[in-house]
Amino acid sequence: MNYDIIVIGSGPGGYVTAIRAAQLGFKTAIIEKESLGGICLNWGCIPTKALLKSAQVFHYINHAEDYGLNKVEGSFEFPNVIQRSRGVANKMSKGIEFLMKKNKIDVILGTAKVQKGKKVSVTDKEGKVTEYTGNHIIIATGARSRELPNLPQDGKKVIGYRQALSLPEQPKSMIVVGSGAIGVEFADFYNTMGTKVTVVEFMPNIVPVEDEEISKHLEKSLKKSGIEIMTNASVESVDTSGEGVKATVKTAKGNITLEADILLSAVGIAANIENIGLEEVGIQTDKGRVLVNEWYETSVPGYYAIGDIIPTQALAHVASAEGITCVEKIKGMHVEKIDYGNIPGCTYCHPEVASVGLTEKQAKEKGYEIKVGKFPLSASGKATANGNTDGFIKVIFDAKYGEWLGCHMIGEGVTDMVAEAVVARKLETTGHEIIKSIHPHPTVSEAIMEAAAAAYGEVIHI
Ligand SMILES: Cc1cc2nc3c(=O)[nH]c(=O)nc-3n(C[C@H](O)[C@H](O)[C@H](O)COP(=O)(O)OP(=O)(O)OC[C@H]3O[C@@H](n4cnc5c(N)ncnc54)[C@H](O)[C@@H]3O)c2cc1C
Repeated sequence: MNYDIIVIGSGPGGYVTAIRAAQLGFKTAIIEKESLGGICLNWGCIPTKALLKSAQVFHYINHAEDYGLNKVEGSFEFPNVIQRSRGVANKMSKGIEFLMKKNKIDVILGTAKVQKGKKVSVTDKEGKVTEYTGNHIIIATGARSRELPNLPQDGKKVIGYRQALSLPEQPKSMIVVGSGAIGVEFADFYNTMGTKVTVVEFMPNIVPVEDEEISKHLEKSLKKSGIEIMTNASVESVDTSGEGVKATVKTAKGNITLEADILLSAVGIAANIENIGLEEVGIQTDKGRVLVNEWYETSVPGYYAIGDIIPTQALAHVASAEGITCVEKIKGMHVEKIDYGNIPGCTYCHPEVASVGLTEKQAKEKGYEIKVGKFPLSASGKATANGNTDGFIKVIFDAKYGEWLGCHMIGEGVTDMVAEAVVARKLETTGHEIIKSIHPHPTVSEAIMEAAAAAYGEVIHI
């Protein structure tokens, strides 16, 4: 029961870490208490995108006439839509099982607890406890839906993302509290399927981490699609004693009461740091997350932490990158630190939102003199052919050296386009180099080149 590397948790942090460790020749084990693939594959990234795809297809069917086709009225059975999403998640989880076998990684099912002396105890479903020893123990136990004291989740009327992904029947109305990526994606899905959705956001803008212009545009688009949005508003209390939910919402104009069948709390996540032995081993935490250095070493040698359990961006691709960096460093390779300023963020509502780097406000606050270029998708031939002209691309360059400081996009398909900006920024590409990189026609990606050209007064199509 001795391993070089023991990974606790099999989310995109844990399973990717285990594969990279095995590739590097380490004898590796991964411990999982629920389903291989973690939140991302089972209750996060993947099943939400499956639901959003069903909603998009439904939308297209109902808008067949916009494409010169005969009018059709789409219809669906809600449980089948949920079932498809669960099927996609299960298929992906099975894929991880295959990858573990392929890479000769031992999968240990059970609940792990770290112990002193680089030991891990695992309690299986029958309550049997087995002890394992590892030269390096990597904790990747992830996170869960955050519960606010005034918004306790009962799993039925006040729910978190797990229930929102597996409701037995479609609610007629829903209040979504929080308008980060998770809240907005669910709001878009349920609204498209016909639920009356109201989003309540504490901050002045929805998707508050995004560039202000993008947030404002998304708010307009979502309102147009029928979602009610309240910003600068907070849910003070909920009453579930009646048929549905009554939420008291504090607004600038005083308190109002919203009523709905269901309230989805999407106010962030809480890291799974409890009952995993951190205190016993002496691993330090702060504000509910495990403290690590730039190589993901905790305060106790031999123990590491990556992914949602540490205070970096809570994204699947960040968790994976941290795990790879961590094991490559353990191997003694020459490793680059992760540049947390060049992490793309995507929201898969319609229109989609994608961004990387500084917002306009952040660039100005940092003292940059900037050049900003914008290109509307209404001027893109491909977007027009697609019938998806809502949105724009915004790029921000440093006026002095041409450094690409930020890229902010809203529109159909932009989540697949943002990687261009990530790679270009990694390679320290300048604005002019983007303009001179010939983009294929017709693609929506041309809008990036055009936005860059707009920043330098060279735009062609507007
Ligand atoms: C609804 C939703 C949508 C999302 N969409 C996106 C998206 O589109 N893109 C994106 O990048 N991110 C998205 N995320 C975030 C993403 O899912 C997380 O950032 C990612 O899953 C974190 O990976 P992780 O490996 O740190 O932890 P997790 O994926 O949370 O995995 C942790 C694993 O550890 C296991 N575990 C916990 N404790 C123990 C224990 N004691 N013993 C054994 N096993 C244990 C858990 O069962 C779990 O399987 C979304 C999240 C949600 C909730």
